[in-house]
Amino acid sequence: MTNSLAPLEKYKDDLVYCLQCGLCLTECPVFKSTRLASLTSRGRMRILAGLLDGDITVNKRVEEVFNQCLLCEACAKVCPSGIPVGEIMATARSVVNSERGLPLTKKLILWAFSDLSRTGKLASFFSLPAKLVTKENETGLKPNSLLNKFLPLSELPKFGDKTFLDKFAGVHKPKGEPKGRIGYFTGCMTNLVYQKTGEAVLNYLLKCGYEVVIPKEQGCCGLPAFASGEINKAKEQVAFNIDAFSKENVDLIVADCASCVSMWEEHGGKLINKKLMEVVEIMGFLDKNNILPDKLKVKRGMRLGYHAPCHTRDNEISRKAPRKILQQNSTDFIYVPLETEEKCCGGGGSFGLLNPELMLNIQKDKVTEIKEKNIDIMITTCPSCRLYLASGLARHEQNSIVCHPLELV
Ligand code: SF4
Ligand code: SF4
Repeated sequence: MTNSLAPLEKYKDDLVYCLQCGLCLTECPVFKSTRLASLTSRGRMRILAGLLDGDITVNKRVEEVFNQCLLCEACAKVCPSGIPVGEIMATARSVVNSERGLPLTKKLILWAFSDLSRTGKLASFFSLPAKLVTKENETGLKPNSLLNKFLPLSELPKFGDKTFLDKFAGVHKPKGEPKGRIGYFTGCMTNLVYQKTGEAVLNYLLKCGYEVVIPKEQGCCGLPAFASGEINKAKEQVAFNIDAFSKENVDLIVADCASCVSMWEEHGGKLINKKLMEVVEIMGFLDKNNILPDKLKVKRGMRLGYHAPCHTRDNEISRKAPRKILQQNSTDFIYVPLETEEKCCGGGGSFGLLNPELMLNIQKDKVTEIKEKNIDIMITTCPSCRLYLASGLARHEQNSIVCHPLELV
């Protein structure tokens, strides 16, 4: 065994615990799309065994196999042996990176997420030339037909001239005596792109009587780095955020991104070997405290649907809360339950950018159903899902809006 494989050694026991039962195949969106057994948790456990036994080396195919996973952990949910899929995949990717180098697209993504303020300034600098090759609509930028042929996304994110943190970092007081002091972790996408979500979260928490603290010094949650196998970078980012919030004496932290919350909850503490403060997904928090909005500002008769992000799979309250808002008896809108409501959007962070064909194939049924059922507004609680869904809908010339539920309040 070469030295670079050493980080995988600690999963030797998991190789024994994997029963090769194949239950993971039944849930895996990549397997359903490709029918390739190597692209499943079971297949990767076999490859891992081959690597550790020295039967195979880290070659191009091994790199592809480890990179073609959404880290959605749908397989982990059904695995009778509790194989820690996310952790194994991140470690395997770190090994692949050390042998074969990090792909350029991932390098660029991690560079962009490593300093949000710099990325915001750069995006605003390029907004003028971007106007020449894209058309702005309500939700994003539509590339012209030539550019569309070369890009994995058919709707690009629209960056603000300033970041959300530039505009709203600080302490925000509600009217009257605060019910509690809440820290708001904005995450990269809300900070740079979906700033309306940030404003909606802030305003709703204030309306509910909470004092909201938004530290200026907060950064990426670390998930893109972790998922790329850049474990040390992820550790730095987790530690940086903990430092930012631990100075603020908040009761808990809320985030509007289900994926950021999963990073804090599932991997953050383990990475830096420390018990972290409580971080909760905003809709789950509102439901737990019986303060979910009871009215949505939408045009009468609109058809609304819900996309449940994979990263809410471990949190039933957060997963159900947006659906609860839609299920209320409202004469203002029609809730249209989708058969594909719980299916993956195919995005998986940078997965969709690196595997565009696979991403389009995975999201095809969902996008088709949204189009067939003529949904006007899709709500979801993960900005990455939002980006990929909006892009998929634009590709199918369906003008549905995709947004966070609090933007409709
Ligand atoms: S479900 Fe778990 S135990 Fe069964 S094959 Fe997949 S990884 Fe192995
Ligand atoms: S994490 Fe998701 S994409 Fe990866 S093997 Fe498991 S079910 Fe498939």
